[in-house]
Amino acid sequence: MIPPGSTIGILGGGQLGRMLAIAAASMGYRVHSYAPDDEIPGGDVSAEVTRAAYDDFAALDAFAASVDVVTYEFENIDVAAVEHVAGIVPVRPGAAALRVSQDRVTEKEFVTKLGGRPAPFRAVGSLADLAVALAELGAPALLKTRRFGYDGKGQARIETAADAEPAWASIGERPAVLEGLVRFDAEFSVLLARGLDGATRVYATPRNEHANGVLSCSIVPAGDPVKAQAPEAIALARRVADALDYVGLLTLEFFATRDGPVFNEMAPRVHNSGHWTIEGARVSQFENHIRAVCGLPLGDPSLTAPAVRLDNLLGDAVHDWQSILADPHAHLHLYGKSEVKPGRKMGHVTRL
Ligand code: AMP
Repeated sequence: MIPPGSTIGILGGGQLGRMLAIAAASMGYRVHSYAPDDEIPGGDVSAEVTRAAYDDFAALDAFAASVDVVTYEFENIDVAAVEHVAGIVPVRPGAAALRVSQDRVTEKEFVTKLGGRPAPFRAVGSLADLAVALAELGAPALLKTRRFGYDGKGQARIETAADAEPAWASIGERPAVLEGLVRFDAEFSVLLARGLDGATRVYATPRNEHANGVLSCSIVPAGDPVKAQAPEAIALARRVADALDYVGLLTLEFFATRDGPVFNEMAPRVHNSGHWTIEGARVSQFENHIRAVCGLPLGDPSLTAPAVRLDNLLGDAVHDWQSILADPHAHLHLYGKSEVKPGRKMGHVTRL
């Protein structure tokens, strides 16, 4: 157990780190954020910040020596670096969760073994592999890099065989996975917190809408058809969390299809589709993640209102903050990022 007053190290310095740090501070913890970026939104609200590369082992050593426990808010950190830190100080969730979720093929195979059903897929290592995979799965299909993809980055849609070569080039000719295009009625995510003692708490399952591969809004309760499919998805998330002896907030994303829930991907961290829990749940995903990694009892994830809606402020939408505040029920969250880029997550709004 890591008591209040201790220092929590967070690898990654984006908005997730920022909201984790705020939750940690409100419970009396100090936060030390570690990230390589010029601008570190999580650093603005941390007691200490290290700006260094994720493979700078001297900086990682100093960071590990200064904290009591480490967590991460970004999953594309080299597992070797995280294992190195774990040799010095507890890292929660552990490196195993990171290893599984960093690679789309490993992740799908892992979840399949636990009874989950991903979209039909083939691992692709070359243009020749892609031709074979396309012949087997048929078009339309999506080509995604195995690693380092997020928010629709590193993805290309293939409509016909003629698209294969440009798609392969557009993802940088890197190890990839080809996925059959899923026809879904809705998308949803399971947000599950698992404590050091193995106890779990599950949030209401949000229905998620994406634009250009980026989350645009999340709504609870999700309604049909998500409502009927959530129990099966939650059961899978529990099996994943137990298999990894997971500690913290775990997210699994699904497509609700005619044939039931199809697994899309998992994230070993707090998730954008759970930002509404700050006001919309009795204890937020951020607080429950902090509680879990510190070995504290988990808090009540139940809703504080009959319905909750989260809207992301992407790119220029951040300039609407004044009109958003004209609605006295809107909870505005801005991440303090100075550069506005199209599609960049600048903030969000929650309405109960
Ligand atoms: P991902 O980064 O894999 O979560 O993909 C981002 C978004 O692209 C998803 O939330 C879906 O809206 C869409 N998408 C990804 N994979 C598929 C698929 N196999 N079939 C249909 N839509 C997909």
